[in-house]
Amino acid sequence: MSPQILDNALGAVGNTPLVRLDKIAKQLGLKCNLLAKLEFLSVGGSIKDRIAKAMIEAAEKEGKLIPGQSVVIEPTSGNTGIGMAMACAIKGYRCIITLPNKMSLEKEAALRALGAEVVRTPTEAAWDSPESHIGVAKKLQSRIPGGIILDQYRNVNNPLIHETSTGPEIIDAVISTPSTKSQPSSGKVDVVICGAGTGGTISGLSRAMKGDRDDRPKTVHNPDCIIVGVDPKGSILAVPELLNAADDGAVYVVEGIGYDFVPDVLSRDLVDSWIKTDDEESFAAVSTLMRTEGLLVGGSSGSALSGAVKWFKTEAGQKVAQTPGKNVVLIFADGIRNYMSKPWFLSVAMEAEPSELTATIASVLKE
Ligand code: PMP
Repeated sequence: MSPQILDNALGAVGNTPLVRLDKIAKQLGLKCNLLAKLEFLSVGGSIKDRIAKAMIEAAEKEGKLIPGQSVVIEPTSGNTGIGMAMACAIKGYRCIITLPNKMSLEKEAALRALGAEVVRTPTEAAWDSPESHIGVAKKLQSRIPGGIILDQYRNVNNPLIHETSTGPEIIDAVISTPSTKSQPSSGKVDVVICGAGTGGTISGLSRAMKGDRDDRPKTVHNPDCIIVGVDPKGSILAVPELLNAADDGAVYVVEGIGYDFVPDVLSRDLVDSWIKTDDEESFAAVSTLMRTEGLLVGGSSGSALSGAVKWFKTEAGQKVAQTPGKNVVLIFADGIRNYMSKPWFLSVAMEAEPSELTATIASVLKE
């Protein structure tokens, strides 16, 4: 489609590029294609712009939102909040975001800049306690006239927008790229690897690639597509439960993935296998992505890559890794903008290896 003038910033949600990670693929000895969907290029900076826009527009259609009266309240790890606050600024709704303390200052700053009120909640509060980000959002809703929670954990528009936008964009990019001698392609999406928070992304992508297990349409893109979920150690989303038990109670710094409950929108039966990752490997992978591929991604993108590295060592993963043309898609949910002041990023960014240039720079400065 040729470029068009958009009505407002919401027109620039999604439509993100799919890029090859050839240098990393080479380092890993992969024969398959390693591809990444760059969701930090969405207008609000993350994959969650899509669901914020979808949930707000669906609520408007249902007559649930009234400009000037409705107060949109949402518990989030920040990115859904940023998408919501942006949509609310554009459409004229007040917005309150409840955000666990562990989430970055950058997210809070972006939220406040977009005109939202931000309420911090204790990270350690159980999801169903009155002090959690979900509990506080509910209390606020009961007290604030016009208060409405669109609820990303239950809202069908969350997985649905990934089924109808994120998924088809990936499929279109893969189908439209011809297979060549130097860059062979199966012409299909063979594997999707992504982190899970609400689980909307992974559930929607699974349906986009191979339909719903209970209600599979007659024609699906690739019924054999393998869907791999990445879950931080300390979270309980992975299946079988045994995977989670090994690190019961572990605390993770990575933001946006992992929970202490299974959200309704996460259909775990649509995920073929789960990989557990820890902070250290996620942040090391962020550094690799920045230095090797020039990608300024956030922590959960590092989790997606380190999850992929582990998956390629499984039996199913090895087969794919050694097959030229197989297309493995990683979802990079947000960018480094959200984490610039986080200690993990500062150490990743600042820990440049000294090189021959370091000595030359030092001697030039002395002259
Ligand atoms: N990564 C980041 C940075 C996120 O903010 C989110 C959303 N919580 C995810 C991954 C996971 O997306 P989903 O909620 O669709 O599972």
